[in-house]
Amino acid sequence: MKAHSILSAITALLIFSSCGGGKYATTEKVYKKKAKQFAEVYKESPVTGQLEKINAADKEWIASINFGVRKPNYVMIHHTAQNSLEQTVKTFHSERAGVSSHYVIGRDGKIVQMVNDYYRGHHAGLGKWGNDTDLNSSSIGIELDNNGTTDPWPEIQVDALVQLLAYLKDAYKIPQANFIGHMDYAPTRKNDPSRFPWKTLAEEGFGFWYEDYLENPPLGFDPRLALRIIGYDVKNLDAAIKAFKIHYIQKDTTTANLNEEDLKILYSIFKKFL
Ligand SMILES: [Zn+2]
Repeated sequence: MKAHSILSAITALLIFSSCGGGKYATTEKVYKKKAKQFAEVYKESPVTGQLEKINAADKEWIASINFGVRKPNYVMIHHTAQNSLEQTVKTFHSERAGVSSHYVIGRDGKIVQMVNDYYRGHHAGLGKWGNDTDLNSSSIGIELDNNGTTDPWPEIQVDALVQLLAYLKDAYKIPQANFIGHMDYAPTRKNDPSRFPWKTLAEEGFGFWYEDYLENPPLGFDPRLALRIIGYDVKNLDAAIKAFKIHYIQKDTTTANLNEEDLKILYSIFKKFL
């Protein structure tokens, strides 16, 4: 083979492998088609279908020259409750399941990206954090391959997650408080991720953990108010308490009881959100 044909063969190989052809050629094609449709919406000018819906007599489109794309401001962490990364990829290719996350991390630390950071993944579902009821629109979803019950969290997987979080935090200037779990957002429906090393993450600057030395909460300390200030939806208080326990206490998570130690932990976390 001549030098230039070797080069073009290598280039073809690189293009082929970097765009995920072969095994995933079909889903890759669907992704591209969807992305193209969204690009059409973004490039439209004048914009149709927005101003028209506003009930006012005098309306006009005049394009500005200063704008950018919206950025994620939260990261939501999940466990897949499945048995392998491949199984999760398969789920995220199922139109019927209708779900996706931006990233999936395998037990071996492999990071798979499935959705552009700028797109809205379908991982959060119904829930509420603070007053935000559409975390899909404002968050990056990360699924960690873990069966959710007995699997340990391998160091190599957590290390990969920390690298990914470092990139996201820096790229989108995401506040430390905005790294949350699925159960924090949807306490009545979800318990993921469970038994999760949140302390390690907090030490790296993603989310908070409580102080080693725990103070007694002051007289009249209201757990409901504290949970609400942290961000929990307290409409179902028992569910909010259980979600808090899955995140910070990590034992006795099936009861909504807060013992003396738990209350100290809640008070410590609450103070970080003031
Ligand atoms: Zn989840």
